Amino acid sequence: MTTPLDNLLDLDQSALKAYCERVGEKSFRATQLFRWIHHRGVGNFDDMTDLARSLRAKLAGVAEIRPLRAITDKTSADGTRKWLFDVGQGNAVETVYIPEDDRATLCISSQAGCAVGCRFCSTGHQGFSRNLTTGEIIAQLWQAEHTMRAKLGLGANERAISNVVMMGMGEPLQNYAQLVPALRMMLDDHGYGLSRRRVTVSTSGVVPMIDRLREDCPVALAVSLHAPDDALRDQLVPINKKYPIDELLGACERYLEAAPRDFITMEYCMLDGVNDSPAQARQLVELVKNRLPVKFNLIPFNPFPESGLKRSSNARVLAFGEVLLEAGLVTTIRKTRGDDIDAACGQLAGEVQDRTDAQRRMTRSIPIVAAAPSTPNKSVPPTLKQ
Ligand code: SAH
Ligand code: SF4
Repeated sequence: MTTPLDNLLDLDQSALKAYCERVGEKSFRATQLFRWIHHRGVGNFDDMTDLARSLRAKLAGVAEIRPLRAITDKTSADGTRKWLFDVGQGNAVETVYIPEDDRATLCISSQAGCAVGCRFCSTGHQGFSRNLTTGEIIAQLWQAEHTMRAKLGLGANERAISNVVMMGMGEPLQNYAQLVPALRMMLDDHGYGLSRRRVTVSTSGVVPMIDRLREDCPVALAVSLHAPDDALRDQLVPINKKYPIDELLGACERYLEAAPRDFITMEYCMLDGVNDSPAQARQLVELVKNRLPVKFNLIPFNPFPESGLKRSSNARVLAFGEVLLEAGLVTTIRKTRGDDIDAACGQLAGEVQDRTDAQRRMTRSIPIVAAAPSTPNKSVPPTLKQ
């Protein structure tokens, strides 16, 4: 039986230094190698022309730069591009490239499936399959960056992707050990050179891991809040039963101590008649006002049949946002992108094969606490940033 080759995409620069020493090379070679792979996008040792031929041959015998195989690769009319990558054994994950006027964001997956099981999320309905490796997480950026760089005709020192959000499939903080080296590669000047504030980890609220991230790699933090009280959040985001809202906000406060000029983004998926009343918006204001600096990002729900939930009307989203704005909270409404290729939030991996438990999870019905009665919609001018 042949030993599998080591995947160099698994190694951040310090791990690559240790690896070079282990195979009998000077550790400074690691920086050269790292730059070839991540900065220049080279996936073949033979093309790394300033490395000695003997080193290239040695590496080719023990290591590889393992790309992900794209099952599909679709570009939307609005320029959004979505790759569905094969991660083996019938599992696939998605990566979405979202170009805007002044930036381009890559939305990356951290797990195949997700164990948190949020009520409104199709990934959550599929169940958990496995954690991605560091190499599989960074390969999404490696492939998207270099593919887009070539497509856009950019030079070696120009970047196609300016922002990364860990908002694809999976709960990144439940794959912490594999996540952190990947984040370090994103920030590394010899890698992707992204600033700390342009890399966002989105979490459903794994409190102990928020504390660890603050120590290890305090990138921008987004929290999937989705409800103003524990009774409702327990049902929408089940991890709330373990780490309720007050503890979650406490972790956010501690997080900002490590990043004092930052704020926390609060994601809030707008579900018709469930969490979208003006009264609930006022509850949210009470929750965060005078406690920590936040920005609210209201996400129109992307429906899928098994959820049994509906998207809030635009008028209701605007009315909700107005309450937050009037209380002085910065609020944006997320634009839905790539609808025509199913690349919108929570629609990811619709095509992934069923897993053992998926069918049961799909049909499981979870009751939702009725929302407080809503006041009639008033007509609100569209002053919110979209
Ligand atoms: N597991 C992490 C990151 C991935 S989900 C988290 O939950 O934060 C990324 C974002 O998409 C989260 O805010 C999530 O709540 C939101 N989302 C999930 N399903 C959605 C859907 N069907 N419509 C709109 N947003 C959704
Ligand atoms: Fe997992 Fe995030 Fe989906 Fe919840 S919203 S099931 S945490 S991916």
